[in-house]
Amino acid sequence: MTKLQKADIDDFKAHFRGDTLVPGDAGYDEARQIWNAMIDRRPALIARAESPEDVIKAVKFARKHELIVSVRGGGHNIAGNAVCDGGLMIDLSPMKRVKVDPGARLAEVEPGCTLADFDAAAQAHGLAAPLGINSTTGVAGLTLGGGFGWLSRKYGMTIDNLLAVEIVTADGRQVRASANENEDLFWAVRGGGGNFGIVTSFEFQLHPVGPQVLSGLIVFPFDSAKSVLSQFARFTETMPDELNVWMVTRKAPPLPFLSPDVHGKEIVVLAVCYAGDPAEGEKLIAPLRGFGKVLGEHVGVQPYSAWQQAFDPLLTKGARNYWKSHNFSKLSAEAIDTIIQYAGKLPSPQCEIFIGTIGGQTARVAPDAMAYSCRDANYVMNVHGRWDSAAEDERCIAWAREFFAKSKPFASGGAYINFLTQEEADRIEFAYGPAYKKLAGIKKKYDPTNFFRMNQNIKPQ
Ligand SMILES: Cc1cc2nc3c(=O)[nH]c(=O)nc-3n(C[C@H](O)[C@H](O)[C@H](O)COP(=O)(O)OP(=O)(O)OC[C@H]3O[C@@H](n4cnc5c(N)ncnc54)[C@H](O)[C@@H]3O)c2cc1C
Repeated sequence: MTKLQKADIDDFKAHFRGDTLVPGDAGYDEARQIWNAMIDRRPALIARAESPEDVIKAVKFARKHELIVSVRGGGHNIAGNAVCDGGLMIDLSPMKRVKVDPGARLAEVEPGCTLADFDAAAQAHGLAAPLGINSTTGVAGLTLGGGFGWLSRKYGMTIDNLLAVEIVTADGRQVRASANENEDLFWAVRGGGGNFGIVTSFEFQLHPVGPQVLSGLIVFPFDSAKSVLSQFARFTETMPDELNVWMVTRKAPPLPFLSPDVHGKEIVVLAVCYAGDPAEGEKLIAPLRGFGKVLGEHVGVQPYSAWQQAFDPLLTKGARNYWKSHNFSKLSAEAIDTIIQYAGKLPSPQCEIFIGTIGGQTARVAPDAMAYSCRDANYVMNVHGRWDSAAEDERCIAWAREFFAKSKPFASGGAYINFLTQEEADRIEFAYGPAYKKLAGIKKKYDPTNFFRMNQNIKPQ
């Protein structure tokens, strides 16, 4: 990597429309901070792109000066690849336009949009695409890794609703990829992460959703965990696609609908969302209340976009985070026992184990239809280590690693690439499973020098 001279930076600034920041500039430190506070890297230059032309200029500049490039969408990725040390960070957060065509139920979304930006624009027309469950997450990174959330059982992974992308490739060309243009590239970006270029526009299929949905939380004491989890496992196997139920076990935050003596104690939470007639949803979720003695619940009809923000207060930027994740096709009794064992020794009040339920439409797509191939994953478990002080790093990370190892025998194949940490480079091939070889060939065609390598990297082969 070459060292950047001031004259080079000045020349770049003169031609780049967005803001640029170098160490020492006001705003530089804020711009390099991402969701996970464990990532502390210092790019030589941060270029805040405002247009596809800016992205092309940044790519060409990095090539000319042999700079490592990192790409930031919403800055939420746990591995922290949005920020590099010493190179060029291309920050797409100023590119926030969403254009909705309500008649055709289509949306064009720029890569700096958060889920909240996309949901707000689509819900103005009673429409939505399946996205994740924390509204400050970036649409870009979430989509490129697969994407799943409350609507996925009904409408599939986020990528199952992606119709086309505009993408700047490693040679600085902007190309379009879709089912009938650069089909191999389109196959690869649907799960292949940031390996193939910088997406400057995503085109999505939308669906009628809400705008009011039945959704909320039902909370059980930890001593009924076995009963709740066993029945959750059975219930989620046969529930209709419109219904989604996720499980979280953690120490109770001070939620107003829980009695203060529950705050800080281990609990099991079922989070529900019904993407259909709320009255029908009420009937369907009624059995959940019989899974154990309910400590409290907060379920009702609310705007879908409000439910999409319900977890934001627990998932704010700036904490230290360490994740470990497995896919499961079934939740066996042994898997449940292991979850309960480790949920019983949470190392900090913010640590949690969650099981995101998918299946339904996500499982009806052929595993080789696109780069994301984990179509047998009906549950994605995330061991979410989260704490505030560096002094707690070792203890919290050790807990997550140990639980990950103990629950591995019950996991199915593959892993969700968007949940891998920076130390899991040796899991990437496993995560992609049968898709990896084809991805490596497409990488060689579009990025033979591995110019885009600050990502869950697929080596050109
Ligand atoms: C609190 C929280 C909740 C989450 N919940 C969910 C969930 O419910 N469902 C789910 O599926 N995932 C979820 N995730 C995971 C999320 O999908 C990933 O963290 C995702 O990578 C975030 O995207 P981003 O744009 O915010 O991240 P960034 O860190 O900005 O980007 C991640 C990577 O994507 C690539 N990238 C970003 N933008 C582009 C682009 N325009 N072109 C090419 N490459 C690009 C880069 O390699 C970058 O390093 C969650 C994450 C967090 C932190």
